[in-house]
Amino acid sequence: MKLILLGPPGAGKGTQAKTLEQRFDITQLSTGDMLRKAVADDTSVGRIAKDIMERGDLVPDELVVSIISERISAADCANGFILDGFPRNVSQAQALDKMLAQKDIKLDAVVELEVDDAILIDRIEKRASETEGGPRADDNAEALKQRLAVYHEQTAPLIKYYSERGSLRGVDGMADIDVVAGQIAEVLQALPEV
Ligand code: AMP
Repeated sequence: MKLILLGPPGAGKGTQAKTLEQRFDITQLSTGDMLRKAVADDTSVGRIAKDIMERGDLVPDELVVSIISERISAADCANGFILDGFPRNVSQAQALDKMLAQKDIKLDAVVELEVDDAILIDRIEKRASETEGGPRADDNAEALKQRLAVYHEQTAPLIKYYSERGSLRGVDGMADIDVVAGQIAEVLQALPEV
């Protein structure tokens, strides 16, 4: 099973990706997690990404595209993967299409976690106050709001991109975590050849 999980920051992509990992024995590929590790390890990639991430902006496309291209071919992805946080804009989506065609990999679905903006902002503010001084440097209210703005400007156009290609499946992301997980599983089981 090869999936993309799409949705704004705070929609619960990471949590759902972890559930899907277990359920389908596939690998979560979170560019955010990989970049945070690069920052923590102070690698050359991490040094480029650090300030950009703290602001809530997107790191350069070439950087994430090459990370994903390498990861997707690794042995632990042979049974499938969930792209969590990638692609983030149309240019990344086009690079992904090219990469998958070259590797002869077919995407099964793009699952969109649909969430209400007002509720999201509320969650974002709560998360920012709960995690102040916490592990994520981009978990302050300002950076979170910037990430939401970036989502609308750059990532939301992917909903149209994938819906035109017939691969988009929407799920109500506002329900309880278990309910959302159940809905995603249902959507995936309804796909042909899964
Ligand atoms: P996330 O954990 O997915 O919310 O990502 C955290 C931060 O990492 C984002 O706000 C971006 O700065 C950066 N990032 C993660 N994935 C990407 C991507 N595909 N393209 C550009 N920047 C990304």
